[in-house]
Amino acid sequence: MQPQNIHRSRTVDAGTMQNELAAFKDPKLACGLIESIGKLAPEGGATLMEVCGTHTVAIARNGIRNLMPDSVRLSSGPGCPVCVTSNRDIDAVIALARIPNVTIATFGDMTRVPGSTSSLLKEQAAGRSVQICYSPLDALALAKANLDREIVFVGVGFETTTPLVAMAIKRAAAMGLKNFSVFAAHKNMPGALETLVKDPDLKLDALILPGHVGTITGTKPFEFLAKEYGIPGVVTGFEPVDVLQGIAMIMRQLHEGRAEIEIAYARGVMPQRFQPEIEPTINPKGCRCGDVLRAHMEPSECPLFRKVCTPENPVGPCMVSSEGSCAAYYRYY
Ligand code: SF4
Repeated sequence: MQPQNIHRSRTVDAGTMQNELAAFKDPKLACGLIESIGKLAPEGGATLMEVCGTHTVAIARNGIRNLMPDSVRLSSGPGCPVCVTSNRDIDAVIALARIPNVTIATFGDMTRVPGSTSSLLKEQAAGRSVQICYSPLDALALAKANLDREIVFVGVGFETTTPLVAMAIKRAAAMGLKNFSVFAAHKNMPGALETLVKDPDLKLDALILPGHVGTITGTKPFEFLAKEYGIPGVVTGFEPVDVLQGIAMIMRQLHEGRAEIEIAYARGVMPQRFQPEIEPTINPKGCRCGDVLRAHMEPSECPLFRKVCTPENPVGPCMVSSEGSCAAYYRYY
């Protein structure tokens, strides 16, 4: 007999994969789930928060907010890695970029995030060495090709990006590279969630939890939400049916008066242990990103939204990445 919760890999061709994924966009399934959500929605109302930028975009792109019953409010949390990178970290990286012989390697979004007085893009324009990478392994290749320079990779993101950075560090050591280092500004999702559920102004009833983080961490790191704070949560994926199924499962929990952490993304997630080590820092720039990230205001309520702050000219980090709340609202609402 096989133990439970063991995921076995299988190889499928592109056509099979496309067919299987199509089920997660199926309008009939979506309609059934929307009906369930309507039937189970608490009369007194409920506020659900999605805490991942990929969910924010999926909800916006598929018009899911507009499909909710009047009593159900979907609120966007601070799940964009760029948005939760503090000013202090940006300033520190800019200071590093100004050191002769140092090359900063980072994701494209990061170059546009404004620090206190500058951004990496401005530093690049001023002649500093700033290279855009698509992966930490690109930065490793840069280090190998430029042994006379110190290559500093800026590591941002949550549990989904941290392992790749760790792998790059191990590879650098194995290759004997002495000129590769990482400025680690990673965050962990459970710590950020605890900050949110403890916020008395938010009054959250449930959380839509990110499937890709759950794939890395399992569901155990989220269990404290239900056990200690009585907040139900469902880990789910990013296709429309995934998101709706996650919301429907939350509605059922609220309807039955339960608070548990459930999985609606069984194709990627299973329970397994993880110990978070890094404290989250939610320290956005001095616009209204702080209020947006804590879900105290909608992006469109910021006085700068659309008028001064746009994706082409971002004032705050929430407008920089396509997964930032302000950028998602700019694009879809
Ligand atoms: Fe910050 Fe711009 Fe969003 Fe306002 S609209 S909160 S300035 S990112």
